[in-house]
Amino acid sequence: MNVEIVTIGDELLLGFTIDTNSGFLGRELASLGVTVARHTTCGDDVGIIVETLREAINRTGAVITTGGLGPTADDMTVEAVAKLFDRELVRDDSIAQWLEQRWIAYARKGPMPVSNYKQAMIPRGAEIIANPVGSAPGVLVTDERGRWVATLPGVPREARTMFTESLRPRIAALAGEGTVVRSMTLHTIGVGESSIADKLGELGKGVNGLSLAFIPGIAGVDLRLTSRDRSSVDTDAALAEGARILRDNLGDVIYGEGSTNLASIVVDACRDSKLRIAVAESCTGGMLGEHITAVAGASDVFHGGIIAYDNRVKRQLLGVLESDLAEQGAVSEPVALQMAKGVRLRLGTEIGVSITGIAGPGGGTPEKPVGTVWIAVDVSEGRPPIPRPDGEPPITPYAKARVFHFIGNRDEIRYRAAQAALDMIRRTVRDLPKTSAI
Ligand code: ATP
Ligand code: MG
Repeated sequence: MNVEIVTIGDELLLGFTIDTNSGFLGRELASLGVTVARHTTCGDDVGIIVETLREAINRTGAVITTGGLGPTADDMTVEAVAKLFDRELVRDDSIAQWLEQRWIAYARKGPMPVSNYKQAMIPRGAEIIANPVGSAPGVLVTDERGRWVATLPGVPREARTMFTESLRPRIAALAGEGTVVRSMTLHTIGVGESSIADKLGELGKGVNGLSLAFIPGIAGVDLRLTSRDRSSVDTDAALAEGARILRDNLGDVIYGEGSTNLASIVVDACRDSKLRIAVAESCTGGMLGEHITAVAGASDVFHGGIIAYDNRVKRQLLGVLESDLAEQGAVSEPVALQMAKGVRLRLGTEIGVSITGIAGPGGGTPEKPVGTVWIAVDVSEGRPPIPRPDGEPPITPYAKARVFHFIGNRDEIRYRAAQAALDMIRRTVRDLPKTSAI
């Protein structure tokens, strides 16, 4: 089955909005075994939209659009679809009522603006694609030859939700059981792509008949396995097996897969182990706390932090020794360790984490160039000891610090430092029963 995508909007042509909707639709349709035969972008002009849709439907018979469903004058997709199929626009009372209810629910004052009713006008005989996350509903219009156009809004979150909930199941049914293209992404942290490639050897060229792509990014290197030309069931099995092989070969540098991120993994791990976190941040200025609190439910594990940018804050709030600051400098092992311990004691958590480094562009020295970052994790001694096998030495609470040399500009160094700190927490939590008194 072939489909064409038409993304609509002057903003897209002008380059102010980057078209992510067609990327999303392309991946989703490929995963259903549907070929995106062509993808066109056109501006907000009713004549041009009709012309673009006509060409697309004549070629392929199946078209998905995004954009131009709003209430304003520059939103004219539905009008264009009505023209294309030569149907009049009629008011759909259920949409009108729903828009009014939505208006009231959002506690807007006064009656709903008249322009909003435009979104209740749909081509006669069209099916409505409900929009559970925004105001603009979509329409699906089919002609007597079975050719169809479906419209989705421009706002990516709305387009994604409506596609996934309403359109995807219908297209899957139309496409039937063919071969599909699907990917799975594994996330790694702490190793470069060349080290991963070395470790994988021959597997780097492909795993279990799947292609493998290395995608280095600021959050770490992603590994994307892609399966083609398999049935849906075989695809899932092949991807699962491919992921297992990669995990066997790379071990714990893989921290998760799919839509997860490192902060979510850390929050979950800490919650499972009943451990709470406090952070002391210098060069990241709160970014680590930001990443952790971006995870829903972080309050179970995250207590807070101290942004200890100036040395006085490191001394006065975290108890860092003046002598160490003077002799070793703020970016040093003892200072990182004292910051981690200080914030843990101050905030009364089991884990304290600190980051102190030189993000640049200034401030580097030959001994400590820009990108030098010390990160420390300090773990509480206040929890009951873990039962140990006979003859094993008692487990002591511990703290550890590591120095990193990150590359990149200021933003990248700060981001990489926050990621590295999350990874140290992840590893600490994983190793705790073996190494500490918790
Ligand atoms: P609205 O009701 O908000 O007007 P709409 O369906 O009319 O929604 P547009 O007005 O075309 O959609 O676009 C709304 C916003 O969605 C744009 O400002 C832009 O940020 C984003 N957007 C539109 N098209 C795309 C696209 N193809 N890819 C990514 N973002 C897009
Ligand atoms: Mg709009």
